[in-house]
Amino acid sequence: DIGLNTGFLGPEQVAFHFVTLPEVQSMYRPRLKFSHKGTYGHSVIVGGSYGKIGAVQMAADACLRAGSGLVTAYIPECGYESIQTALPEAMVLTDEEDNFLTSIDIPFDPSAIGIGIGMGTGEKVVKAFESFLKKTDQPLVIDADGLNILSKKPELFKYVPKASILTPHPKELQRMIGDWKDDFDKLEKAKALATKYGIVLVLKGVHTITLYNGLGYINSTGNPGMATAGSGDVLTGILTGLIAQGYDSLQAAIFGVYLHGLAGDVTASIESYDAVKATGIISNIGKAYLELF
Ligand code: AMP
Ligand code: MG
Repeated sequence: DIGLNTGFLGPEQVAFHFVTLPEVQSMYRPRLKFSHKGTYGHSVIVGGSYGKIGAVQMAADACLRAGSGLVTAYIPECGYESIQTALPEAMVLTDEEDNFLTSIDIPFDPSAIGIGIGMGTGEKVVKAFESFLKKTDQPLVIDADGLNILSKKPELFKYVPKASILTPHPKELQRMIGDWKDDFDKLEKAKALATKYGIVLVLKGVHTITLYNGLGYINSTGNPGMATAGSGDVLTGILTGLIAQGYDSLQAAIFGVYLHGLAGDVTASIESYDAVKATGIISNIGKAYLELF
């Protein structure tokens, strides 16, 4: 039952739901007094390449801020020192290749995995991503170059685990579904993709829309200050951290997109739209949590 704030849009009458603050509040999973870091999961953020290690650092940082108990960054060797220095709370696993990932073998069972940011789409990276997809059935958060690889090799979609969250921005979406005539057409095509593969498709934008099981959930937080480098990497980290804590994929997407936008709104209220940076959004995830309650 999706209740109030629900309507139908477009020639195909797709049901949309405007996500409200009380709904987001009701999804929140409060921290327990009798708990330890294992209670809140171990997240792994997989990605990075020479010159794009910052993406993984920001996602790992955001993942910790979202509440993940432990976070491991899985990156090529070249990023080892910078992440260990800048983000002491994170653990780091490296690929033996210096500048990009050539294999993805996580030596434990993570509670959640976010993959694709700053990863590149070179041949060896594609191979590593492909063999990782083929051996994983745990829902993933897939963003950026993970999405670009899927667009280059659409035959890999069938290996994307059910209930994975995919977070394309408009350009990444266009690579995934091709051109669209108008917004309704875009939503129809995106909905068809989400339904076909049983995935949660987060269409990032001014009003981010989460599509799952034929329904669209419209977000209301966020601002133009968030049109800045690394903003999406922060969302990837938040979503991964929420799944690690036991949110199901749809809840993680709806709650996480709201929290991310709210953290951006808090940042803009302190620093102006113009000066928002992704690391600022991360610093204000805490204030966003406080604003929710
Ligand atoms: P990415 O392009 O991957 O860095 O993701 C950008 C993030 O910032 C997404 O979560 C967008 O929804 C958000 N964002 C970008 N521009 C705006 C905007 N003008 N208003 C609200 N949110 C935005
Ligand atoms: Mg991005």
